[in-house]
Amino acid sequence: TMACSEAFLVLENFIAGKFVPCSSYIDSYDPSTGDVYCKVPDSGKEEVEAAVKAAKAAFPIWSSRSPLERSQILNKLADLIEHDLEAFAQAESKDQGKTITFARTVDIPRAVYNFRFFASSILHHTTECTEMATMGCVHYTSRTPVGVAGLISPWNLPLYLLTWKIAPAIACGNTVVAKPSEMTSVTAWMMCKLLEKAGVPHGVVNMVFGTGARAGEALVCHPDVPLISFTGSTLTAQRITEKSAPYCKRLSLELGGKNPAIIFDDADLSQCIPTTLRSSFANQGEICLCTSRIFVQRGIYSEFLKKFVAEAKKWKVGNPSDPTVDVGALISKEHLEKVRSYVKKAKAEGAKVLCGEGVDSLALPTGNQKGYFILPTIIAEIKDKSCCMQEEIFGPVTCVVVFDTEEEVIERANSVKYGLAATVWSSNVGRVHRVARRLQSGLVWTNCWLIRDLNLPFGGMKASGIGREGAKDSYEFFTEVKTITIKH
Ligand code: NAD
Repeated sequence: TMACSEAFLVLENFIAGKFVPCSSYIDSYDPSTGDVYCKVPDSGKEEVEAAVKAAKAAFPIWSSRSPLERSQILNKLADLIEHDLEAFAQAESKDQGKTITFARTVDIPRAVYNFRFFASSILHHTTECTEMATMGCVHYTSRTPVGVAGLISPWNLPLYLLTWKIAPAIACGNTVVAKPSEMTSVTAWMMCKLLEKAGVPHGVVNMVFGTGARAGEALVCHPDVPLISFTGSTLTAQRITEKSAPYCKRLSLELGGKNPAIIFDDADLSQCIPTTLRSSFANQGEICLCTSRIFVQRGIYSEFLKKFVAEAKKWKVGNPSDPTVDVGALISKEHLEKVRSYVKKAKAEGAKVLCGEGVDSLALPTGNQKGYFILPTIIAEIKDKSCCMQEEIFGPVTCVVVFDTEEEVIERANSVKYGLAATVWSSNVGRVHRVARRLQSGLVWTNCWLIRDLNLPFGGMKASGIGREGAKDSYEFFTEVKTITIKH
């Protein structure tokens, strides 16, 4: 049944401070119902060209503003988003499938904080200076914005990850052309409505909506965009690297993960179990930092598994707008099928599915029957070489395996192509330091998960990425450095 077109939310690109319609649109689905509810511009070269032109035109004015002036504007924008927090959270939940609770407490507050954080940190950077007294010289460094920044973001934490790029880019004095995921573009479009009121000059932030293949590649291949900051899958990052190679672009790549949790015999299970449930299933497992390989030392393996499965079964799956629901819908039908296929493969290989997909029944409210839901799923007795232990599934599916020694678990934890995040659970502080140091992982959380200080570097090793983001790292990425020598 086709609803009349007025029933759809229709997004427009935001170029040079104005909303502009597009000649063709992409359907965007409500993951909790399976219905199309929104039309997203299907931008291509032409739209990207207009956006880059606007960003280039705005660069001289914006880059000559003082850090304090830019900081005040970023803070104002943070206030405006915070003022509309509930509307943003509702929109993010509907667009992405995530629970309203997660959107209210994680996504939107963090988007607000991203602006406040970089509004503050931009005021505190210093550059370097050295003296060569015998030569009569001083050397110092100077940093200037790069130009037009191309920002490409994924669908799992839409506004959260987009603002993690926009905030440092514009705080440093760059202008921006951003392309959010075509599956989750609504909150980015809503934010555009606040830019003028916040005092962001026209052309400083331009939003071009569309697919990766058309709008994304046009941005990556635009000769006037010297820098691309990308968060998404490793496969797309390879393509972006290839496509941008002829232009020698500066790239920051935040990619996938296959993150281990290492749980030693002396772990405090009363902390470890609830946190590992969250690290496995939060946001439907659709966070690059989610745990998907749980290594448990033999002494506590059965106790851990019994309690972990019992607690996982309590997670409520259902309508994301219900505040009592813990697990919302996955992003798309295709993604749901992909996640299910991994569970099927594990079973075919002889692994045991202890709860969730194919084991327990999923009762959905009427109205959500066609939504993309899956129960939190725990797989045990699976081989390290199995694809469920090697590939990123990006859903609420986690594997639990047993280990004996510290040496053994470090090697097994490191034997995947990814290296984004790890958690280590132990009350032996010496062991925690030893293991953390040897894990091939950009982030290691011990006895906790997802606690971030935005000042410090964030990013992955190996196939999980190139470059780091954070107060100092983002400042360095979004500026050009020059060394100047003065001889008297
Ligand atoms: P994706 O790579 O499919 O898409 C990400 C973005 O890139 C989207 O905006 C997409 O339209 C665009 N894109 C796709 N093809 C492109 C191309 N050829 N040229 C230019 N742009 C293109 O990723 P996704 O499915 O949206 O997101 C999930 C992935 O993101 C997972 O692998 C997850 O681990 C990763 N992720 C990483 C981090 C991190 O910080 N390391 C954070 C969140 C998500």
